[in-house]
Amino acid sequence: MSNNYDVLIIGSGPGGYVTAIRAAQLGLKTAIVEREHLGGICLNWGCIPTKALLRSAEIMDHANHAKSYGLTLEGKMTADVKDVVARSRGVSARLNGGVGYLMKKNKIDVIWGEAKLTKPGEIVVGASSKPAVQPQNPVPKGVKGEGTYTAKHIIVATGARPRALPGIEPDGKLIWTYFEAMKPDFMPKSLVVMGSGAIGIEFASFYRSMGVDVTVVEVMSQVMPVEDAEISAIARKALEKRGLKILTEAKVAKVEKGSNSITAHVETKDGKVQQITADRLISAVGVVGNIENLGLEALGVKTDRGCIVIDGYGKTNVPGLYAIGDVAGPPMLAHKAEHEGVVCIEKIAGLPNVHAMDKGKIPGCTYCNPQVASVGLTEAKAKAEGRDIRVGRFSFGANGKAIALGEDNGLIKTIFDKKTGELIGAHMVGAEVTELIQGFVVAMNLETTEEDLMHTIFPHPTLSEMMKESVLDAYGRVLNA
Ligand SMILES: Cc1cc2nc3c(=O)[nH]c(=O)nc-3n(C[C@H](O)[C@H](O)[C@H](O)COP(=O)(O)OP(=O)(O)OC[C@H]3O[C@@H](n4cnc5c(N)ncnc54)[C@H](O)[C@@H]3O)c2cc1C
Repeated sequence: MSNNYDVLIIGSGPGGYVTAIRAAQLGLKTAIVEREHLGGICLNWGCIPTKALLRSAEIMDHANHAKSYGLTLEGKMTADVKDVVARSRGVSARLNGGVGYLMKKNKIDVIWGEAKLTKPGEIVVGASSKPAVQPQNPVPKGVKGEGTYTAKHIIVATGARPRALPGIEPDGKLIWTYFEAMKPDFMPKSLVVMGSGAIGIEFASFYRSMGVDVTVVEVMSQVMPVEDAEISAIARKALEKRGLKILTEAKVAKVEKGSNSITAHVETKDGKVQQITADRLISAVGVVGNIENLGLEALGVKTDRGCIVIDGYGKTNVPGLYAIGDVAGPPMLAHKAEHEGVVCIEKIAGLPNVHAMDKGKIPGCTYCNPQVASVGLTEAKAKAEGRDIRVGRFSFGANGKAIALGEDNGLIKTIFDKKTGELIGAHMVGAEVTELIQGFVVAMNLETTEEDLMHTIFPHPTLSEMMKESVLDAYGRVLNA
């Protein structure tokens, strides 16, 4: 087997493995290097296993409200933490195996080990410095191991890892990252969650549903700081109603460790310090790109704030070297990684009309209860850009399907450019909004105006009808409110 390829991809997360498949479809001889787990963080420790945990949480929440649906549950619903975690790990393992199958099906060589760039067009794969943290599915046949490999094009897709704050470094015991939070061997009674981005809030929501006393500490003025302020405020109220304690404009200044607990010293805006003792603290203060030990410095690859600098097609400043996904900067989302990879490889293959990555149209979803989803400009950002806007709103409380589901708390907000009528932002909070948002993503991609949306027929009774009503509201034509 030759060690020379058209394309070598370092990292098999959603960025790397999807790029490899597209490369193979385009007739390029392709190999992927992976040091730990096929599917990367997303399939093994991120998107997928959290959604499995949150599904258990959702069922728990429904069971706790069974009475309001006219149903009686004999006895109390309880969670067996081992089984909840086992289900989540099983879901990951199934998908991890699926990536192995896809590599084989597309005749992509999998090279096990840790890659380092040695010179332009060459990598050396050595033993992994990261032992696999969960048993792998059978390694696909025909894979290669340590050695020197060459390629015309090398794509770095090495992902990211948890950011650590000085003095509050995760220790895997009392201070958890998402790795420990994903597979607890016991259910804590109380938790402090530091950071209220998507990862922090999803874990806070999950543990709260499991009956844990959770306090979220967020340094910014709102939870989920990237979201529209109005949506964030509704989500916060709903989370607090579920018993979550939330402190904003507050930071964990230090942590004292006990034998089996932590005490977080939380500084609030008014300068007061509050001590919160809990069983564990989850550090969810963001992620940093895996740029170390890759040989980037020797090749003179430009980096910025822990990420590789690229253009809209994944090109770095070094010819023949590309980067995609989390390691190439925010937003650090799986679908961004995948799309960035496809754009990159199609450009490499010389396809005509490849569109550069447009970061303004990447949706973001948070799967807490209630869910939050968005695409495009928030109201504040649109105003800061000096845009003249029209804003539409429609509440879940006025939608038949939402009421029938018993999910009548939420809002769909749309933002239009007043001059052109173009949809420039959509923001949602409530049941199933992570499934609804894609309608507006398609609309924005097609540069849809309010008129196109008003001419579109939405099925009844659905939650999606609220999307149309929100558009109608922006133009003073709302029907059901
Ligand atoms: C708890 C959690 C929940 C999340 N939920 C969501 C969600 O719901 N939706 C969403 O879109 N995103 C979510 N994310 C983010 C998502 O997981 C990432 O954006 C995504 O995994 C990035 O893909 P990637 O391909 O860039 O990198 P990764 O998935 O991180 O994969 C990189 C791979 O490269 C390998 N690697 C690194 N260095 C080397 C080397 N030198 N040699 C060989 N291999 C190497 C790593 O082992 C890894 O497998 C979540 C993340 C977390 C932590």
